[in-house]
Amino acid sequence: MRERFPLLAANPGLHYLDSAATSQKPRVVLDAMREYYERDNANPHRGAYALSVRATDCYHEARAKVAKFAGLADADCLVFTRGTTESLNLVASAWGRANVRAGDEIVVTAMDHHANFVPWQQLAREKGALFRIAPITHDGQVDLDALGGMLGARTRIVAFPHVSNALGTVNPVRAIATLVRERCDALVVCDGAQGAPHLPVGFDDLGVDFYAFSGHKMCGPMGIGALLGRRAILERMPPYQMGGDMIEVVGDEETTWNVLPHKFEAGTPNVADAVGLGAAVDFLEGIGMDAVLAHERALVAVADERLRGLDGVTVHGPAAAMRSGVASFTVAGIHPHDLATILDERGVCIRAGHHCAQPLMRRLDVAATARASFYVYNDESDVEALVSGVREAQRIFDGHVARG
Ligand code: PMP
Repeated sequence: MRERFPLLAANPGLHYLDSAATSQKPRVVLDAMREYYERDNANPHRGAYALSVRATDCYHEARAKVAKFAGLADADCLVFTRGTTESLNLVASAWGRANVRAGDEIVVTAMDHHANFVPWQQLAREKGALFRIAPITHDGQVDLDALGGMLGARTRIVAFPHVSNALGTVNPVRAIATLVRERCDALVVCDGAQGAPHLPVGFDDLGVDFYAFSGHKMCGPMGIGALLGRRAILERMPPYQMGGDMIEVVGDEETTWNVLPHKFEAGTPNVADAVGLGAAVDFLEGIGMDAVLAHERALVAVADERLRGLDGVTVHGPAAAMRSGVASFTVAGIHPHDLATILDERGVCIRAGHHCAQPLMRRLDVAATARASFYVYNDESDVEALVSGVREAQRIFDGHVARG
């Protein structure tokens, strides 16, 4: 598998354990993008000439592939965006501004990434709505009883992650959507940034209204992502940005909007990156998303066992079987940043910090954690390098303490 990723093939000693931040790119994705520019590049939707039609076809094909991958039958309900952050801001701006009133309630969870927290918090402030944060259990799962108790007649939006980027917790999306539908008439928004890359999505069966993800975390390029929505809601929702391609007729006073998905894609689209994302989903489907998840879970189970076996190491979040490929941990007496620096000297790339989840860090009562995240190209040698690096860091710090 490493041979299929040029960066990993060129760096045999590299243990890349930061795929939750961004994944490496397989050669097929890089080739697809280069070929698009070498063979098919033109501004789509605009020209009457064959090359522009080819560019339009490439873009259309990419949308169809990504929609199918995510289990969305109606591909026109997939809006290409820059990524998860833009997708979530699109919903908060377009739907939120038009539908949320003073006194309404918006509910998020304590494990949301800032991208699925701050847009709702700020929307609530702007509208005079109440912003509520559903708590998590001691082992890092959404507290469903508490969430249920927060839902009522004034709840307008419920937003939550498919998978926590900081802990790896896989949330029961369908059960949460059902709970919301039973108790209130709210918009259900799921942040799939850590879902789509790691497990089957099945959008049409999830019961949510919107689902967002980023191409760069799933073997695709940076700068492209998707927002999947239900047609009836997208049809009623006002546009997010104004400009070329998203209009039907522009009068001196009034403008009418193009059909889906163009209504939400103002300006020249990012065709090459969409083509790259199309190639990425082909690549992932070639492996199979059940196999991707099983591979990550197997590695994370070994990592958990080995890390928990070390004195002073705490692994946060639920049992490995309830997580995707993330191990978030702290080591007594060693700041996660120092740990990451020592690991880096040994070719092990992990992330250290608050993982854009400061509300979660406060609840875990830690300033930061070290996070190792696994993907299709990792194997047990990466776990071994991680664990021996942590041991080495402990030896160095013990030495300091002894000498100091
Ligand atoms: N949500 C989650 C759960 C994430 O992990 C990330 C990326 N760290 C985002 C949202 C934001 O994604 P992007 O930066 O690609 O827009």
